Amino acid sequence: MAEQLPGLLMCVCTGKCPGFEKMDIWDFINRARVELPVEYGAIHPQLCEVDGDRFLGDFLEAKRPLVIAACAPNMQYKMFRDAFAAKGMDVKRDMVPLDIRDLTTDEAIDKVSAKLHEMGVKRDV
Ligand code: SF4
Repeated sequence: MAEQLPGLLMCVCTGKCPGFEKMDIWDFINRARVELPVEYGAIHPQLCEVDGDRFLGDFLEAKRPLVIAACAPNMQYKMFRDAFAAKGMDVKRDMVPLDIRDLTTDEAIDKVSAKLHEMGVKRDV
């Protein structure tokens, strides 16, 4: 993930999933997009539904690496593989899936921040 800052997409599982009850999703995404070295942060309600596929189909036109903060990484790899492949992208290379369920807002920010650091992403890229 060299020159480009990654985008950050959060999926909130319709907003009703108990896995996100411990955090304030709006505080999370607002802090992430302001404090962390990402190109932008946005929330999608249900990325693994058919309209989520359609959304990714449009969104991935930019070919920007994405950090997806949502559910289990192994599920994300399966669910989003085809959408990335359709744009000539490799889900294992171009997507960084993070499981932020059952975390507080601070814990979720720390988890994304640590991953970006591990990826070598810096704000002044
Ligand atoms: S991608 Fe994961 S977090 Fe998003 S709706 Fe599907 S199962 Fe829930």
